[in-house]
Order: sequence, then C-alpha cells, then structure tokens
Amino acid sequence: MNKKITVIILLDALRWDYFDRSKSIFTSNLKNKSTTAELVPTFGFEPDGAFLSGVYPEKSNGGMHYWYSPDTSVFKWTKKYSNLFKKFPTSSQKYIRFFIRLINFLKESEKGKKYFSFPSKIPFEYLELFDPVHDKLMFEKDLFDCPTIFDICRNKKINWDFIGYPTYRGTLDKGIYKIINSINKGNSFVFGFFGELDRIGHKFGPDSIEINNLISHIDNSIQILFNELEKKYDFDFILFGDHGMVQVNKELDIQSNLNKLICNPGKDYNYFLDSTFARFWFNNDDAKTEIYNLLESLDGGSIINQPIKDYYSINYPHNKFGDIIYWMNDGNIILPNFFQGSQSIEGMHGYPDNVRDNNSFFMHYNSVSKTKNTLGKTSMIDIFEIIKNTIN
Ligand SMILES: [Zn+2]
Repeated sequence: MNKKITVIILLDALRWDYFDRSKSIFTSNLKNKSTTAELVPTFGFEPDGAFLSGVYPEKSNGGMHYWYSPDTSVFKWTKKYSNLFKKFPTSSQKYIRFFIRLINFLKESEKGKKYFSFPSKIPFEYLELFDPVHDKLMFEKDLFDCPTIFDICRNKKINWDFIGYPTYRGTLDKGIYKIINSINKGNSFVFGFFGELDRIGHKFGPDSIEINNLISHIDNSIQILFNELEKKYDFDFILFGDHGMVQVNKELDIQSNLNKLICNPGKDYNYFLDSTFARFWFNNDDAKTEIYNLLESLDGGSIINQPIKDYYSINYPHNKFGDIIYWMNDGNIILPNFFQGSQSIEGMHGYPDNVRDNNSFFMHYNSVSKTKNTLGKTSMIDIFEIIKNTIN
C-alpha cells in the first residue's frame, strides 16, 4: 500500500468558472473524477476563518485587513512624521511607504504584524489610527479561539508544511517543486498558497487574455504535480480559491463627497475607504447623521443594516470594523480608496453573495475513490470539514 498524503492548493482569486475555459484541459478532465463546488465566500475580504476553522467572520474577526485601533496601531510612530511625509512630492511617496513597511518589518516581533503592517495607500495623517487585524500567519498556533487545520495536524502529530504567501512569494509553477520536495521529505499534509491570479485579475480583469494564459499555465503546473504524486502516493488533492474576481464597471468618489460636508475627519469622525467598503467611526451624533444622509443619497452601494449583519454573521463584539459600513454593489468600486489610491483597476472582489463572479472554485480529488460529485453552490464554511476529513 502507498503512503497516504494530502495536498491542498489555495489560489488567491481562483474564480468558480476559470477552468471552464478551453485551455485548461487537464484540470477540466480531473473535475470528472472529483467532488466540485462553486464556493460562496464569507463576508468581505480574508475568509480564512471559514476554511481554516469553519467559523464565521464574527468569531474570527474576518472581513477586512485593517481595523480602527489607535491604542495598538503598528503605525503609531508615524504620527510625528506625518506632516513631513505629506510634503514629499507624490512621485516619491511610494518610497516613504516602502520605508514605513521596512521599519515595521524590523520592529515588530509577531509574524503577522511583521508581514501585514504595510501602509497601503492610507493617508499619512490617518495611519496612526489603524492596525492590521491579525498578528499571526495562517499556519501559526492559536490563530483563532478554535483550532485550525494546522492545529489539528499538530494535535494528531502529523508532519505538515505550509508553502506560500507571505513566507514564500514564488508562483505555483515553482511552488509545485517545493511541494513535491516537502512530501518526499516526509510531510504528509502540505498546504500551498499562491497569489498570482489575484494580482493579474486585479490588473487586467477576469476576462482578459492575461488571465486565460495564466489559467493554462496553472493547468500545466497541476498536471506536473499530479504526475509526481501518482508515482508514489495515495492522495487527497484539494484545489480551491478564497474568492472570485468581478469585472469593475463603475467608480464612486466618496472622498469628494466627504470633503463637502460640514463635519470634519479627525475631529467629528474617522473613516477608512476599502475598495468595496466605506467605514466610519463617530465622535458626535451630528457627524453620524450627516454621513448617514450622504451615504443614503449615493448610487453604487448600500449601508449594512441589522438583517445583513445577521445574514453574513458579522455581529462583531466591538466596533473596530466601523460604526457604519457602506458596501458597494456588483462591479462598483470606491475610488480613490486606501488600497489603490487613485489608480483605476479592472478586477475586484469583496461583493455581496448575489454577485456570482465573486464566488470561487473548489475541487477535491481522491486518488483511490475517484468519485465524481457535484455540490453546486456551497458555503466556504463547509470546506473546513472536507479538509479536516482528509487529515488522518
Ligand atoms: Zn485581491
């Protein structure tokens, strides 16, 4: 009998329908011998809690990269320099941001803070208010209150490995050789995480030639990996995406609208502009009313109300994600925002779950049973059990 192993590959922004494109012959054939699903991500960005632990955002603080936390902000030290930083010409500001990132990488001791404390395009004067939500990487111990798939491996004394972002920044075509090496060295649970589809999808859009070419390249890498695994092992192979990619069709300038209000940022309220969310924290009721009325008048999204919070399980026990959150609809983005600045892009994710192209791909192949099973639309939460059951 062959040794039994599990290989999981997470491709950032692997949309549900990418492998239906003509050039992905190997993976398309594999789907006929696998369990497949169209995965519906949990709320917002970063659905890690769902597939790692089977929990909703309100339990894993999932949804956003940054939250409002002036007391703990890794950017606190930038406060005394923010006026100076602002004086530099726009062309050199990217070097200042690189410098801030480098300082944080060197000064922070926890891995999550080290890697996730990049300033994005957050205006310098607001940096000190915000903090990256997670201070651990996805494979680290005690990431959430409940065990992750990596904690389960630890408890069962299974040799596991993680190859991917942010500790390994290579692409899948090189990553597969690291995965093969890791397995041949004796690890029986290997998780790979690669980001090239997300980068290309944002830049060129989900329907671009660039995406089609990359999918064909990915298909080829999967075939090489498979040929190696089949030589020696019985294996579970899971390939999935954390979210899809939606073609951007409209930009909404919330910043200009805020500039016209009577209430002032920093004094009456604070705010954060994600690509698909505008989030607000208030110091007085007048500001709250004025901003609420502004958001109600905008065309492009809607304010998250209690039924929506219940539906997505985002009743967080704190207001660090915002007192009011405005959420963009299908293909609309907020521009300028604190990630892209004023730079237009072609693709985005982080939409409500009626936007089908926000959904991602899932495939589970077992080399012994080779059974075909089509699950249809499936919550990202349910993936956890499937992954867990391959660990033994
Ligand atoms: Zn992305």
